[in-house]
Amino acid sequence: MRDKINIAIDGYSSCGKSTLAKNLARELKYVYVDSGAMYRAVTLYCLRNGIIDEYNSLNVSGLLEALNEINVSFNYNRTSGRSDTYLNGERVEDDIREMRVSESVSAVSKVEEVRNVLVQFQQQLGKNKGVVMDGRDIGTVVFPDAKLKIFMTADIDIRAQRRYEELLSKGQSISIEAVKENLISRDRQDTSRKYNPLVKADDAIVLDNSFLTKQQQLEQVKAWVHDRLHKTE
Ligand code: C5P
Repeated sequence: MRDKINIAIDGYSSCGKSTLAKNLARELKYVYVDSGAMYRAVTLYCLRNGIIDEYNSLNVSGLLEALNEINVSFNYNRTSGRSDTYLNGERVEDDIREMRVSESVSAVSKVEEVRNVLVQFQQQLGKNKGVVMDGRDIGTVVFPDAKLKIFMTADIDIRAQRRYEELLSKGQSISIEAVKENLISRDRQDTSRKYNPLVKADDAIVLDNSFLTKQQQLEQVKAWVHDRLHKTE
């Protein structure tokens, strides 16, 4: 049987990374790992335990003290056919997608110690290959040797519209302007942080999906995978 590879998908917020990564993993019978869910789960812990206060201010030393008590894991959900995120044994898949988490996650994800712990966990999940992982530093830090690296981008208004519709469908009431502001703010924080900022890996292929359907993106990436698998032979 042909060797499996790891596939790294990085890019800006709400570019459709997870949709593409899930579809690709399903087609290839690979494991999908949502690294953003890990940062979101740590952020949820901070919000629930007063480590982020009501003014959205993060107490970094409080977070460092609590880091040992935060356990993030994934469990396969037979009904949805996907992995759900768990925080200290509790399923938090829906809670981590809420706007209050989106508003604070970039402050948490810039803390070096948080990144070190989560990157180690991510590398562990990918050690046997056959993983599609999406995030911000997968091709640069987590799997620098990944055989296929994709850097996704899309027009900001199109991204905001997609995210807005997704939140509405989940019953969250929010304006499209607030969604757009959050995306811009997260992208700014994620690209400018000191440790493992969001940056395109030199060997990543850029995929601008502003005007591509989900199926077109999948077909394009499958062609790249095919190409990489032949290269490894
Ligand atoms: O992918 P998602 O939008 O859910 O990620 C939420 C946040 O988690 C990002 O805005 C970023 O701050 C952080 N993140 C990160 N590194 C990753 C994945 C996510 O810093 N590999």
